[in-house]
Amino acid sequence: MSKGVFTLSLDCEGLWGVADHIGASTKSINQSSLSEVYSYINNVLSHHSIKATYAFTTLFTQDEANILKYKDSIQSYINEQDEWYKHIFNTLHNENLDGWLGREFYLQAKKNSHEIAWHGFTHHPLGKTTKESIVKFEASESLKIFEQESLDVTSIVFPRNDVGHLKLLGNSGFDVYRKGVIEQSRLHSNKYYRVLDEFNVLKPSQKFKSSKKTPMISLPAGYFLNWPSGPRRLIPNEVTYRRWDHILRSASRRSAQAHMWFHPHNMITAPKMRDTFESIIKNISTRMDNGEILNLTMDECKRYYNE
Ligand SMILES: [Zn+2]
Repeated sequence: MSKGVFTLSLDCEGLWGVADHIGASTKSINQSSLSEVYSYINNVLSHHSIKATYAFTTLFTQDEANILKYKDSIQSYINEQDEWYKHIFNTLHNENLDGWLGREFYLQAKKNSHEIAWHGFTHHPLGKTTKESIVKFEASESLKIFEQESLDVTSIVFPRNDVGHLKLLGNSGFDVYRKGVIEQSRLHSNKYYRVLDEFNVLKPSQKFKSSKKTPMISLPAGYFLNWPSGPRRLIPNEVTYRRWDHILRSASRRSAQAHMWFHPHNMITAPKMRDTFESIIKNISTRMDNGEILNLTMDECKRYYNE
């Protein structure tokens, strides 16, 4: 029987991911706070020998001069009434990229042999309601950059967890993705349920299910590590820790998956999250030493479950 698996995927995007609501809530996200938080996560993972899947928005991995080269092509989509590109274009036009540059974090993750996955080109949602021409643009421009960087990218974390265009993306060379939370469980479309669910300390792990029908392998949606901000601040750290302890125990017992995800910048806007993160990672490291659980990246999961 196969072992339980722990997977950590990080949505790495800086301000690209919040381009449509830049304001008071994102003010603390800048180059210096990003640099501090990415180093912090890197240190915790290195200390416990844990490998993660860093899903980067492609333009977040590029330097300023390279990003600005896309100004014209992004502008051409605004004429097609695309709201997302309007926000991106405004930023490129103002040339203030503080909080938008993640090249050093990408190079650091690559150097430490973490998996680099795809989180869109500009973080444009890629779900069913998005035009095919946009998905093609986002994928093909990213593929060109992967080639320049000699990077083999095969896993997707969909921006906003909005899953779509699997056939097209499968044909572009991607072969595994993290399921959207709503794809996993309809109850999750209710925000009150999502907060209440954080109190469930008997949360089970998630089973991998293979499906011949989809053009790509889908991994369980995993669970967001509680971000103690807004109503989520009411959830004590102790509850979050017990919840994850149960998910991990359940993964070993059922040969299932404990998939954790969050955005590194969540730890800038809610620093308390670092305490739960560190204690859970420590717990995982002990379970790994005891042979109770395996730590696999998304790419490794695909091979592990395919055997
Ligand atoms: Zn994102």
